[in-house]
Amino acid sequence: MILRTFNGGYDRNFCYVLINDESEEKETIIIDPFEDSRITELIEKDKLKVLYIINTHSHHDHVSGNKSLKEKTKAKIVMNEHSSLEFDKKVRDAEELLINGFKIKFIYTPGHIPDGMCVLVNDLLLFTGDLLFVGKVGGTGPRFKGSDPKLEWESLQKLMKLNENILVYPGHDYGKKPSSSIKNEKKTNPFLLCKTYEEFIDLKNNWHVYKKENLEN
Ligand SMILES: [Zn+2]
Repeated sequence: MILRTFNGGYDRNFCYVLINDESEEKETIIIDPFEDSRITELIEKDKLKVLYIINTHSHHDHVSGNKSLKEKTKAKIVMNEHSSLEFDKKVRDAEELLINGFKIKFIYTPGHIPDGMCVLVNDLLLFTGDLLFVGKVGGTGPRFKGSDPKLEWESLQKLMKLNENILVYPGHDYGKKPSSSIKNEKKTNPFLLCKTYEEFIDLKNNWHVYKKENLEN
């Protein structure tokens, strides 16, 4: 399997293209596409057979490339069952999708938004959308409709139970590095070092102070 990462879109968004390079068909899945000619050029140049477009959640910057990509490739759009957008395949928590070269497991992770999900590919690569970033977590509060910090905390705890060797690929390039691992996030992400929800919400509410004291020198 080959993973190609594109950085761009609305705000340092990541779009991920996963290609089964062991088959002549080159079955491909694309996660959180935005409009970008580099993505379509790759599909054409390498003659990729795009089967599924998967969105980690329905925020505009994570779905903006859906329409044109679907027209071009006839791929099916996959979203969590709670999404109110138009899409082709509904998935639930713990559901799996098996296609040649890929085992894709969907983990329902609300908090940032009610239709948020993480996507675990081949038990090794975890695409976390806007739930978990490298060193940070997704936004909650009045700016994010339907967000709920308690649910976000619970969703994060769910991820912390996964195998530590799993690699983390977030929805935005907001951290010191573009990607990480469960192990590394557990050790270094200040939000995951919180022992209780109360500590977590306190850090969220005082993030600007924490940042000033710890990250900006
Ligand atoms: Zn979002």
